[in-house]
Amino acid sequence: MAHLVLAGGGHAHLTTLLNIAAFRERGHQVTLVSPTDYHYYSGMGPGLLAGLYKPEDLRFHIKKMATDRGADFIQAEALRVEADNRLLVLDSGRTVKYDVLSFNIGSKVSYGPVGEGEASVFTVKPIQNLIRLRKKALDLLKTLELPGFVVAGGGPAGLEIAGALHQLAKEAKKPAKITLLAAGRLMERFPEKVRQKALKSFARRGILVEEGASLSAVENGFAITDKGQKIESSCIILAWGVKAQELFARSNLPTGPDGNLAVNKYLACKNHPEIFGGGDCIYFAESPLDKVGVYPVRQNSILFENLLAAVEGKKPTPFDPGGPYLLIFNLGNKKAILVKNGKVFSGQWAYWLKNFIDRRFMKRFQVSGENLPAKK
Ligand SMILES: Cc1cc2nc3c(=O)[nH]c(=O)nc-3n(C[C@H](O)[C@H](O)[C@H](O)COP(=O)(O)OP(=O)(O)OC[C@H]3O[C@@H](n4cnc5c(N)ncnc54)[C@H](O)[C@@H]3O)c2cc1C
Repeated sequence: MAHLVLAGGGHAHLTTLLNIAAFRERGHQVTLVSPTDYHYYSGMGPGLLAGLYKPEDLRFHIKKMATDRGADFIQAEALRVEADNRLLVLDSGRTVKYDVLSFNIGSKVSYGPVGEGEASVFTVKPIQNLIRLRKKALDLLKTLELPGFVVAGGGPAGLEIAGALHQLAKEAKKPAKITLLAAGRLMERFPEKVRQKALKSFARRGILVEEGASLSAVENGFAITDKGQKIESSCIILAWGVKAQELFARSNLPTGPDGNLAVNKYLACKNHPEIFGGGDCIYFAESPLDKVGVYPVRQNSILFENLLAAVEGKKPTPFDPGGPYLLIFNLGNKKAILVKNGKVFSGQWAYWLKNFIDRRFMKRFQVSGENLPAKK
């Protein structure tokens, strides 16, 4: 009998969690380690902030998925691995002995020069932060005449959060000053047409965009940029890309240049073939992958197959990352920008398509009535 330990119940572990019976019926033990009972689907996070979704629309009850199927659930964060002893050390100080270990612990948003602990500063990850942010924004809109929101980050997360905040204020029928800071050009990794469409939508809605300006400090209710601008801000949202969890470096496991767990084509660590991973927390050495939810979703079934093969002592299957993927950016106002194969479109139908794809994904992994998507 082998012990499979799943560290993190993110998007790449969902198929494994639904299929725990396949391990249990072969006599293997399975344990899920997660700091929370629920995992939140990031693709719908900005929609939650905008008020388009409720928290239960975008969360998976991973504790229930695990325990209903005979796995153990430990509420904790994985802190470090002693790979030579096959021990996972948790933040509680507890250790868990494993035969096969799989990581899906995602990535973090750094506080950068801002520093942690400022009550008015929010990071966009973990996605649950957006529930707190929505409450805070509604409070500010209620109590202040013109609250200022500064979103730091000119990529997809920054774009979607700024659009969502505008929608939130619109629904609350309150004015708000929303400024988006982009260190370079807005959405610069994407075709120029995406930037043009986003700028046009934001200009129409009064969302200010400062390109070539980076947040460098927060002082007495002001966001300070590296260009020396002082922008009055009641709330600052850090949406400027992600960094690796420290766990892998702390454990002396092989990492890629981005600090994530370096894995081979089987999604396994080259020095320790009993350690696997998926999602944002891996560096896929064969062809480095973007940090987008598309890849953990594509990794789901191979990770499940390879974890089952590993506990059974069988051969793993290589992961094929697949071709180009569809990107849809939610502008917050029930409109979206869609990018596929370099072609750019926008409109209401793009939002409907995103909403359809996201809700279908949610349905695929629902295990209880409690968190089924709300009926419309
Ligand atoms: C605002 C926003 C919107 C986005 N929208 C999209 C989109 O529309 N489409 C898209 O493709 N991508 C999108 N992304 C990118 C996407 O969020 C990530 O690529 C995706 O979440 C990665 O999934 P994951 O399962 O690897 O990690 P995560 O979603 O971060 O999940 C990690 C899980 O591990 C748990 N965990 C964390 N640390 C530990 C630990 N130490 N021990 C145990 N468990 C731990 C967490 O609680 C969480 O449940 C968006 C990102 C943001 C920030």
